[in-house]
Amino acid sequence: MKTPDQHGHFGEFGGQFVPETLMAVLAQLQKEFSALKSDKRFQREFQFYLREYAGRPTNLYLADRLSRHLKRLKVYLKREDLLHTGAHKINNTLGQILVARRMGKTRIIAETGAGQHGVATATAAALFGLKCEVYMGTEDIERQALNVFRMKLLGAKVIPVASGSRTLKDAMNEAIRDWVTNVRDTFYIIGSVAGPHPYPLMVREFQSVIGKEARRQFIKKEGRLPDYLLACVGGGSNAMGLFHPFFNDRSVKIIGVEAAGHGLSSGQHSAALAAGSPGVLHGSKSMLLQNADGQVKIAHSVAAGLDYPGVGPEHSYYKQIGRAEYVSVNDREAIEGLKLLSRAEGIIPALESSHAIAYLSKLARRVKRRATVIVCLSGRGDKDVAAIRELI
Ligand SMILES: *Cc1c(COP(=O)(O)O)cnc(C)c1O
Repeated sequence: MKTPDQHGHFGEFGGQFVPETLMAVLAQLQKEFSALKSDKRFQREFQFYLREYAGRPTNLYLADRLSRHLKRLKVYLKREDLLHTGAHKINNTLGQILVARRMGKTRIIAETGAGQHGVATATAAALFGLKCEVYMGTEDIERQALNVFRMKLLGAKVIPVASGSRTLKDAMNEAIRDWVTNVRDTFYIIGSVAGPHPYPLMVREFQSVIGKEARRQFIKKEGRLPDYLLACVGGGSNAMGLFHPFFNDRSVKIIGVEAAGHGLSSGQHSAALAAGSPGVLHGSKSMLLQNADGQVKIAHSVAAGLDYPGVGPEHSYYKQIGRAEYVSVNDREAIEGLKLLSRAEGIIPALESSHAIAYLSKLARRVKRRATVIVCLSGRGDKDVAAIRELI
């Protein structure tokens, strides 16, 4: 079955749970986006910016010392950390800003939690001289002062959100509210494979460059397909970007790694797939951390980019049909993962990506014979070193 269907359903998940005023805009975006998918000029333009500006293709690097340390695994790292701005998010913001330009929009808005998506959006907006306003919870503004400053340097305006938990989910609520009011000139760039249809599809499409390259590069190096794919899952965009091009390769086992924070039993984590239940958040149905009354819980992870109480609907679908397995790694283990890769390979990974790295040690104990694995190294750790210093 081809997913999503025309209304954006991935099995029972996904869809468009939005106010009526947004339905027309979503329909227009859907129409525009499906036309652009087969528009050669648009695709050439997108490829041009990915290559010349962002720095694609990224390397598929054989982590030899890490592999020897893990013994049973031969580990390849997909180096999204080498991209401009230091993470995979730029793939998506470049794609969406080109769609916005095609639609004649002059104002860009975005939500941000840790500020990474805000910075990637402000970067793309600066590149095309578009006005950019980023919604951010006041709690996050305090925690992520440096990214707030980065966005301002890039010419964006940061709008503080003081409602609710004053974090990412509240920023997203405000961004949606803004969009409803200003749809005529405004384009909303969502940062992960979440939100109402067609966003999960669109973001998957733009991030799939990760998996398409990795698949080609791996076959060239090994002459076959990998045994495993491994990626961290916040909203799920770097993971879906890697996973989707391998969906039909049934021999390839897919593992997503969620953040277990202080542990699943502590209630302070971000593992929506492992410990959540189906619900509606930000315009789509997916697995969600919520209480018995359907109120969304506050998520926690040491990795700010994984700190989201929901997850993209397609991951909920992958889990339900058994195409992927979802595991979790806690804060302490993730920090060990960061140290491991730093020392074994001279690469300091982002705390988010460190969750995937940390799971390698567990996977090595699970496999019966030597296996190959591609890990999505979603970002670099420079942004995290100050925080890590307090934690080690
Ligand atoms: C934002 C971010 C993530 C989490 O987002 P996904 O949509 O789950 O990919 C992971 N890694 C890095 C480096 C990030 O900046």
